[in-house]
Amino acid sequence: MNLILMGAPGAGKGTHAKGISERYSIPHISTGDILRDEVAKGSELGKTAKSYMDDGKLLPDDIIIEIVKQRLKEDDCKSGFLFDGFPRTIVQAKKLEGIADIEAVIYLKCDDEILLKRLTGRRMTDDGRIYNVYFDPPPPGVEVYQRDDDNEETIRERLKIFYETFAPIMDFYKQRGVFHEIRGDEEREVVFRNILSILEDI
Ligand code: ADP
Repeated sequence: MNLILMGAPGAGKGTHAKGISERYSIPHISTGDILRDEVAKGSELGKTAKSYMDDGKLLPDDIIIEIVKQRLKEDDCKSGFLFDGFPRTIVQAKKLEGIADIEAVIYLKCDDEILLKRLTGRRMTDDGRIYNVYFDPPPPGVEVYQRDDDNEETIRERLKIFYETFAPIMDFYKQRGVFHEIRGDEEREVVFRNILSILEDI
């Protein structure tokens, strides 16, 4: 199954991508995670990426497309994949057409007020768990950290860019008949059930 999970920053892509990936045994490919790994390694790509990410800006399309092309060549993508955070621009969406057939795009729609709380309150663990100081506080003793770009100024910029770039991507996938929209601001279990009910029909 070749899938894309879309949503504004904070819509719950990371959380639900993990669940979908486990359920269907397909890799969860997050371009944001790939870039954060490169930043952590201190690679040339990481250094370039950091300067964009810290400002909440998107990286140039060429760089992202190259990363995705390489990733899709790996063996674990043979029976499908789930993109999270890609495509982020219409150029990326069009390029992807030449590389892979997308069967479903699921958009998690959320109100901005909730997105802001989710992002400013978001805390992560090294092994990929995501907590929120307002809604789902980390248990005592669990070590958490905050993403560098989860500060209010960068969050506002990320949201602004998301809304500027999203509409054409949505239209593109609507025309292809693969676009599905669900609320991302309901209970986590409800959102996940709604995602599965879409995927079961594919
Ligand atoms: P968010 O939680 O804001 O949705 P991600 O974790 O997916 O973000 O990505 C974090 C940052 O990495 C983005 O703000 C951007 O700088 C960069 N990035 C990730 N994916 C892409 C992409 N497909 N195109 C351009 N930049 C990207």
